[in-house]
Amino acid sequence: MSDDGIRSDWATKDFYKELGVAKSATQDEIKKAYRRLARANHPDSHPDDTAKHDRFKAVAEAYDVIGDPERRKKYDQAREMFSRGGFPAGAGFGSGGGFGGYGGGVNVEDLLRDRAGGGGGFGDLFGDLFGGGGGRGRARPPRAARGADLETTATIGFTEALDGATVSLRVSSDGACATCHGTGGKPGTQPHVCPTCEGTGFVTASVGGAFSMNETCPSCGGRQLVYDDPCPACHGSGRGRATRTIQAKIPAGVKDGQRIRLRGKGAPGDNGGPSGDLYVTVKVTGHRVFGRKGEHLTVDVPVSFTELALGAEIKVPTLGGAPVTLKVPAGTPNGRTFRVRGKGAERPDGTRGDLLATVEVQVPGHLDPEAKAALEAYAATTDDSRLRSGLFDGAG
Ligand SMILES: [Zn+2]
Ligand SMILES: [Zn+2]
Repeated sequence: MSDDGIRSDWATKDFYKELGVAKSATQDEIKKAYRRLARANHPDSHPDDTAKHDRFKAVAEAYDVIGDPERRKKYDQAREMFSRGGFPAGAGFGSGGGFGGYGGGVNVEDLLRDRAGGGGGFGDLFGDLFGGGGGRGRARPPRAARGADLETTATIGFTEALDGATVSLRVSSDGACATCHGTGGKPGTQPHVCPTCEGTGFVTASVGGAFSMNETCPSCGGRQLVYDDPCPACHGSGRGRATRTIQAKIPAGVKDGQRIRLRGKGAPGDNGGPSGDLYVTVKVTGHRVFGRKGEHLTVDVPVSFTELALGAEIKVPTLGGAPVTLKVPAGTPNGRTFRVRGKGAERPDGTRGDLLATVEVQVPGHLDPEAKAALEAYAATTDDSRLRSGLFDGAG
């Protein structure tokens, strides 16, 4: 606790929040906040309250760091580095840090390195060159990058698809390793300057002639620091899968298989870049009774031969409303669709589509003797073969 180095657990600890002060607070404000909290949570006054004991310890730890102007500076720098997943050159780490050699002049390699690293343009380079000793001591500003677009699927119910719904989606994306917060080091261990690149994050490779190119250091992956013990979760890569749960609004009227774009719900951007988009492919589950045809609902209505032949009034259900009565005229062909206005899906303007009811004759599998006798009497009055006469006329 008493060493002056950077601690990797700082990545997870917001000491300002712990003390309830702004990041810009003066040392005096920090001290006052600490005294107030230490008094309020002191174990002597609350011997049995373990939550207060923990709070007291946390407050003391926070004050131990940001209560000291020098340690506070290191803490602020480290927090910024952790948030970027890297370490700027010249930050001056801990006791064994080897950054003392920097801050000298500028050489051609530095210029090439900056170009290869995608840093500033020539303006920046000459600014360094003539500005007097900027050179290596200055950390390259991190580049903002837009987050990746992500894909996921959501399954919603038939009625939800009609009305619109807010669904919880679990979305995974590449991000900093949750265990080491992107440092690649075993939590609780101290990093040291990468011996391969001497802390620059780059190695120089000759590309022939007088030219050389700089590449990201293979040992530290450009992070400039290495750990003796790699993070057990990511094996030192610093990368992991981050899973978030987001609330997504699925608009009313969505169709099965439709792909919806949710702006800004994708992977978070790097270094303040905007988030990507999330594409959600929506699966709509079927309904036992109703189907969908755009803004219209469909329903198959079983009817008997006699109902179609003689005409009938048939009750038909609607989705979420009272049943309606279909007036089926005598002599209605099988498969005819009746339109019930305003009983379909809601349109964006609040009006509704229609209910399309299709009649389907059901043939009884079993007839009791009385019904059978009646049907036989009916058959005796008609010549069924006439139904098929057209077949033979047309067949040639
Ligand atoms: Zn890790
Ligand atoms: Zn390195």
